[in-house]
Amino acid sequence: MRIAVFPGSFDPITIGHQDIIERASTLFDKMIVGIGTNANKQHMFTLEQRVSWIEKTFEANSNISVAAYSGLTIDFCKKNNANYLVRGLRSFTDFEYESAIAQMNHKMSPVIETIFMLTKPEYDAIASTIVRDIIRNGGEVKQFLARGVSLGV
Ligand code: ADP
Repeated sequence: MRIAVFPGSFDPITIGHQDIIERASTLFDKMIVGIGTNANKQHMFTLEQRVSWIEKTFEANSNISVAAYSGLTIDFCKKNNANYLVRGLRSFTDFEYESAIAQMNHKMSPVIETIFMLTKPEYDAIASTIVRDIIRNGGEVKQFLARGVSLGV
């Protein structure tokens, strides 16, 4: 069984994440969206909220699930028998950052392969960080978010 993990903080999950997860999920038997938790990192949305938005977004996709983890992503992969890590690439900056992480993960755990998927051009500017800034300043972000996210009024 080919199992993949798509890790991130999803604070909140965007339409860019949604697109990569759905496209990648067709390549694997099972796709686990892993929400990495880090006690030192301040999040805008609670873990429960982020989990529930991801569940709602993929409620119709039977091979996509969500789980939170702490510690190394490769340890989370091993725990779930996942041999693949999926990451999305928006730009050269993403590539530089992501390639370093992938190389180090591969050194630590050669059985886990990182697979990169390119974002669709229409989503390449969408980043959770910018979405959070817009929310803080009272802007409308619906068009940037995954379909399961509802921010209330
Ligand atoms: P973190 O949660 O670690 O800050 P992100 O949530 O920004 O990371 O991203 C998790 C993964 O999703 C990364 O591989 C990132 O490149 C990818 N990603 C983020 N936004 C997009 C997008 N708009 N299109 C494609 N991939 C994206």
